[in-house]
Order: sequence, then structure tokens, then C-alpha cells
Amino acid sequence: MATSPREPLVRAAELRNLLNKASHAYYVLDKPFLEDAVYDRLYRELIDLEAEDPFLSTPDSPTQRLGGPPAEAFIKISHRLPLLSLDNAFNFEELSSWFLRVEKAITKGKSPSSDNPILKMVGELKIDGNSLALSYANGLLVRAATRGDGTQGEEITSNVRTIDSIPLRLHLKNPPAWLEVRGEAFIPETIFSKINNERAKYGKELFANPRNACAGTLRQLDPQIVASRQLDFFAYTVHLPKEWIASKSDPKKPTEQWQALEWLKIAGFKVNPTSKLLKDLTAVQAFFNYWEVERKNLQYATDGIVIKINDFTLQDKAGVTNKAPRWAIALKYPAEEAPSKLIRLTYQVGRTGVVTPVAEFEPVLLAGTKISRATLHNANRLRELNLHSEDTIVVRKAGEIIPEVIRVLKELRPQTAKLLELPQQCPECQSALIREINAAATLCINQSCPAIIRGALRHWVSKGAMNIDGMGSKLIEQLVSRGLVKSIANLYELDEALLSSIDRMGSKSAKKLLLALNQSKSKPWQNQLYGLGINHIGEANAKALANSFPTASKLSCIACQSPELLTSIFGIGKEIANSLEQWFSNPKNQELLVRLRSVGLSLEEKNADLSLESKDKQNSALPFQGKTFVLTGTMTSLSRHQAKNLIEEAGGKVSSSISINTTYLVKGEKPGSKLKKAKALDTTILEEEDFKNLLSLMKQS
Ligand code: NAD
Repeated sequence: MATSPREPLVRAAELRNLLNKASHAYYVLDKPFLEDAVYDRLYRELIDLEAEDPFLSTPDSPTQRLGGPPAEAFIKISHRLPLLSLDNAFNFEELSSWFLRVEKAITKGKSPSSDNPILKMVGELKIDGNSLALSYANGLLVRAATRGDGTQGEEITSNVRTIDSIPLRLHLKNPPAWLEVRGEAFIPETIFSKINNERAKYGKELFANPRNACAGTLRQLDPQIVASRQLDFFAYTVHLPKEWIASKSDPKKPTEQWQALEWLKIAGFKVNPTSKLLKDLTAVQAFFNYWEVERKNLQYATDGIVIKINDFTLQDKAGVTNKAPRWAIALKYPAEEAPSKLIRLTYQVGRTGVVTPVAEFEPVLLAGTKISRATLHNANRLRELNLHSEDTIVVRKAGEIIPEVIRVLKELRPQTAKLLELPQQCPECQSALIREINAAATLCINQSCPAIIRGALRHWVSKGAMNIDGMGSKLIEQLVSRGLVKSIANLYELDEALLSSIDRMGSKSAKKLLLALNQSKSKPWQNQLYGLGINHIGEANAKALANSFPTASKLSCIACQSPELLTSIFGIGKEIANSLEQWFSNPKNQELLVRLRSVGLSLEEKNADLSLESKDKQNSALPFQGKTFVLTGTMTSLSRHQAKNLIEEAGGKVSSSISINTTYLVKGEKPGSKLKKAKALDTTILEEEDFKNLLSLMKQS
């Protein structure tokens, strides 16, 4: 997040206050109220402010502290060696800069040689749990502690003894008198869901996430409860006495991180099998890219990767700060939530006249894409958010989901901020806006409003409707602002002379456009119906309606006289039937149909006399009849639109969300949250190849 232009002193104080509150809620109460990614970004903003002006760095700043204090209910114990945190990189550029810095510090600028080896790294997953320090005396587990503030932690040995993957006795013949193993305790996802389901059953407060549940569990006073929660543990560090030499019957004392992981395995620990020895930054990038996608198939939560310099001697050369080692860094997965700063609130008037507030904010990188605006839906949502000018907001974009503003950080609101509300007048045509009682939408009802006309035209020429090449938004804008087009029927009355008079439109383009318009007249009835832009009539519904009612007159007749009969069509509910009734009983829309016919559109199926009965027969012979598909991720050989058309041509239906009625989930690259839901509901999952095979099999049969 860009540093706020507001007075840095005030902003730093507000950030300190909010982050300290959040840390207390997170570390002490185990009840976080900020998303981790939001905390991380605000923390980074504070670090940047303090770096720019060291006077802003006060002793109570969260940047001066590590973790949280040990809880009173436990015995406090001092760590033999500080238990540090990790520095974060939020993107690959930051990680590359870290690497260059460390390389420079270690090699002192000299090029690689036999005294100056190339820096190999170990890539590990960053397990989203809680770190533990386990002390072994002569091979026996004698003490286990949480990290606490890095210097002092809580003694939780009896709880840790219940974790099956932690050996109570090391698998070594001659262990040293003392050693310490560090690693991450975590709760597997399935157990986490079970715990929360159980808590919901008894009306108990739910844990926010597996890490939070794990922290809460480790701090239980009753080890039996800990045992029932089935915690797990991955070891990643071992500290052995400097002077200790391993006996011949035991594995050699490790001198590298990679060897340490092997050593830990032999000593009886569970070590994460995904770790990898990486020779350079390209290998690091590949490791990150792979796990960014694959982590969704793991049974435990990870929030990034950790990159560590492999060689212990080189690690020592790099050293540590008071919070984190310099020889390691965490690269976090792209955040799905981030704070940003509202720049302004704008309003969009759609083709149906609905006025939608849109938040425009400082650009943020979310789930791999840069976003700077999000719709706020309606006046209710705006009021719920209690949005003020200059607010710091939390924005989310998870997977394929459209960006949204999830809340406002009131603690960071300037005193001069003003409450933002929907205007009373249409921002486009200044006519009074209306809002029906109990309805969420605010409407401009002036059918001559340029925004409504533009929206209707854009929809009519779009791909799924008349697919008119050359009729882009800019041209539409000009046609409307010059008053040349006032309805979709007007498009068919344009002539070459008029079109050629428009900016950057030569006679050749004008001719091409007129041809495209003319050709569009023979588009199927279902496209024309979709193009009319009737509320709730998407492509699938237009197709279903056009199949049952091969002419506009028949559909109009039934919609006006017996709309309830429409609900017998698959996919058409009461709300859609009402919308059709409203649209067709409006005299202005009937007038539009007359005008469209007069300019040459048929508004009926070419083979309109095909009886409903024979259509039904045809449909039931289609191979995907009765099957519902959901698409997620990006397919390499087909666009969403193409895949949808293929499914529908084969009689199937495409839905946007997974439910028990979903027959198949078609999974492309970088699938979203639908995959998780499909797995939970046991829906059949088709890879792109399976989907294409199924299509061709169906076509053959
Ligand atoms: P961290 O969780 O970002 O990273 C350090 C920790 O990663 C280590 O201590 C270790 O426990 C863990 N880890 C997991 N896998 C590892 C591996 N393979 N190798 C080494 N370490 C590994 O830092 P932190 O100091 O534990 O906590 C700070 C984080 O806590 C912040 O990044 C923030 O996301 C979160 N936090 C959130 C809030 C909130 O309000 N949501 C408040 C305070 C802190």
C-alpha cells in the first residue's frame, strides 16, 4: 500500500495503535480481527514510515517487538537461543533483492570460486501453524515451549507430549546431552473442520483459521483436550552442541540445512517431504510457482515458502537481526485481501437504469492481479460499510471472484472524513433517482438517459448477443453523445455518410460496420432475445425460452397473459417470469419490437414452425441433456465462452457455482475455490483433457 499522503506522524500513530491491538488479539487472545495479509501490509507501511523518519519509531511500535508475551497461566521459560521470526517478501522482486543483499554480504562482492561457493538454497513450505522449541536431554523429550516473544515462551511440555509425530525419545544410539529441535505444530484441515463443526454444535465461538485453532489448542490447560485435537508437527531446524561429534552408529552432524532435514528424519521426526535443494533464483521461482497452485491439494495450510541459505557457515556469515535471520526469507503467496486507500466513490448507471456505487482506490496486487476498483452493489451495502472519504479499506479478491470491499478500517479514518452516500440525482442525466420501498436498487428511470442507452447498445452488440464486429464502446459513446442513436433499432438506420462523419471512422470501416450490422439481422432468435437485455435473461435462459417460444409474439403473449406458465421451463423461476411480464407489458418495449421488425429483424426462429414436441425429442437426444457443468480455472485450448457453447450445444447446462446438482466440475489451470467445494461435495472433477475426451465420446455416441 502506498504510504498515505496524510501527515506521517498521525498515520504512524494510528498504525501503531491498530497493529498493537491486532497483535494482542492474535497472540494473547487467539481471536484475530484482522486478516494476516492486511496486518502484513499495514505493518510494512509502518516499517516504511519509520525508515523514512526514524523519529517515528517509538519503543511501543510493533516493529520493535517479536510475537506476543507468554500467557500468565503457563510457566515462562527462557529460550537458550532466541526463537526468531522471518522477514517477508511479498513478490519475487523483493526476494531477488534479498538474495543479492545476502550474496553481497557473504561473498563481499567477489565472484564465486572455491573459497567463495555458489549460494545454494533450500526451499521449504511455510507451514501456517505455531513454532515450537523442543529440548531433548540425552535423547529424551524434557521440555517443549512456544515461541512467545522470541526470548521467553510458555512451557507446554505435557501438551506437546500428546502430539504423535513428535518422538518422546530420539532414534539415535548416542544422542548429545542436550539438543533443541524447532518446527511447526499445525492442525490438518480435516481435523480443523471437525473441531469447528463440533464447536458450532455446542454454540461455541469458532476458530478463525487452523493456525489460530492450533495456538488455542497448544495453550489448553488440559492435555486431554490437546490430544483430542490431533495436532501434527513438521521439524525444520536442529541446534546441536558446538563441541558434539556424532558417534559412528548415528548420522553425521549436519553442516547444511539440507543435511539437517535428513538428520531430523533419521532422528525420528516428521519432515515436510516437499522441501527441495535449489541451485539458483530460477529454481526458487519454479518452486514457488509450483506450490502456489499445488498447495490447494495439501491437507494443511501453508501461507508461502521459506527460502534458506543451505550452508551453515554461510548462514553464520549472513547473521541475524534482532527479529529474524538474514539468511532466510518467507515469500508469501499472493494475498487475497489487502488494505488500500479510497481515492473516490463513483457511480455507474447500467442498461437497466440501476445506479451502482463503485469504489476507486490505490492499486493493490491481489490473487496475482492488480486491482483499483470494486463495485459496492447498492445503497444498502454502502451504508453497511459506513464508507467515508479518505478511508482505509480492506479489499478482497479470492481466486476467480470479483474484487470486493469487505470493510473499512475505522481506526485509520481521518477526522475530516465525510460520510459517502448515493446521490439524489442521476450522475449521467441529472434526473431524480428513485428507490422503491424494500428494494435494494436505486434507479434512473429516464429511458433517454445516455448511460442507459449506451448500456443497451453495448449489450446488443456483445459477443453472446448480435456479436457485431467494429462496434466498440468508444463508437457507441460518440453515437449516443451526438444524439445519432437513441435505441438499438436506430443502429440499423445508420448510413455510410453518417458513420463516415464520426471521428476516426473512414468510409472503409463504415462499410464494414454496415455489413456486420446487416449480417447480424440473421442471428438466431435466441441471440436477439438475449440482446434485448431483459433483466435476468442471460444466454442460457434466452436459449431455453427461444426453444419453447419460437417467436417474439408467442413469448410476449404468454408473458403478458399467463406468466406463471413460463415457470414450467427448465431454469425459469418466478422472478424471471415476473421480469418477462414487466418487460413485455411495457408499451415502449412493444414499440421497440415493432421498430426492430421494421428494420429487418425477424424476432423469430428461422424454422419457427418446428413443433415443441419435435424440439423436445431433439433435446432429449442430446448427450449432455440433464447434466450441469461448472467451470473453474483457465483452459489452455478453449476459452470459457467456447467451453460453455460446446456444453450447451450438447444439451448441458453451465452453472456458476457448485451445488449438489452439479454433475461435473471442469478444472483448468489455477482453479479457484470451486475446486475445494467440488471435492467436499464429491462432484466428479474433469481435467481439460477428460472434458475434451468426454465431448468427443458423446459426439460419437
Ligand atoms: P510469520 O508467521 O510470518 O513467519 C515466521 C514463522 O514462520 C516462524 O516463526 C515459524 O513458526 C514459521 N514457519 C513455518 N514454516 C517454516 C519453515 N519451513 N521454516 C522456518 N519457519 C517456518 O511470522 P510470525 O512472527 O510468526 O508472525 C507474524 C505474522 O503473524 C504476520 O506475518 C501476520 O501475518 C501474523 N499476525 C497477524 C495478526 C492479525 O491480526 N491477523 C497480528 C499479528 C501477527
